[in-house]
Amino acid sequence: MTRRRLIAGNWKMFGNRAALAELTPIAAAAAAAPGVDVAVAVPFTLIAPAAELVPTLPIGAEDIHEAESGAHTGCVSASMVREAGARFSIVGHSERRADQGETSHDAWAKAAAGHRAGLSIILCCGETEAEHNAGRAERVVQAQIEKSVPDNADASWFTLAYEPRWAIGTGRIPTFDQIASMHAIARAKLRMMIGDRAADVRILYGGSVTGENAAAILACDDVDGALVGGASLTAAKFVPIIEAAA
Ligand code: PEP
Repeated sequence: MTRRRLIAGNWKMFGNRAALAELTPIAAAAAAAPGVDVAVAVPFTLIAPAAELVPTLPIGAEDIHEAESGAHTGCVSASMVREAGARFSIVGHSERRADQGETSHDAWAKAAAGHRAGLSIILCCGETEAEHNAGRAERVVQAQIEKSVPDNADASWFTLAYEPRWAIGTGRIPTFDQIASMHAIARAKLRMMIGDRAADVRILYGGSVTGENAAAILACDDVDGALVGGASLTAAKFVPIIEAAA
């Protein structure tokens, strides 16, 4: 079993059309690293122009609604982002859990909807700082995985991202032992749920990954890549992470 590394960017609510210029050198760096998968999730408004600008680079959505269509003002469905050119979607990101009150059940429904629409899925899990400090990280992440991973998940469309919430955008990261330990716990939980298919599912680490710390994080056992927020916004910061994975 070999899992190809995946370096995925998440632009969050940053970027306008001018920012798309960053994608050209990112796509070039991805082409120069054929052993690594690279992908970038962008705001809904940028999906179509991004997919058109860099057709070799998988462009994704940062969220999707769980319904195919309906009276859900302001929401966007999986088939809509697919039609716009998205090949994947992030679901269950901690910022959506915190800002929109999304639950693990919501993440499960979104992952299933995305798969039905033909998208790959990056599903996020991770404990808060209070949960971390209380020694509850393991139980919290196990419960999130149990409630959010669809029964039919497999590596052909499903990736898990372990993102301790307190490491997102803070410049703080867990120790490398903690990262390896949480990834082992996540994989063991996946194995309980989906059996041997868990061995092929990629588990990304997310939270303050930079060009400086990427190589050490990627060297941790069971880390199959990274979900990168702030450092994915410019080629100058994102390309060194791709190079560290190559
Ligand atoms: C993220 O948005 O998923 C993330 C990990 O952000 P950052 O890299 O900025 O911590």
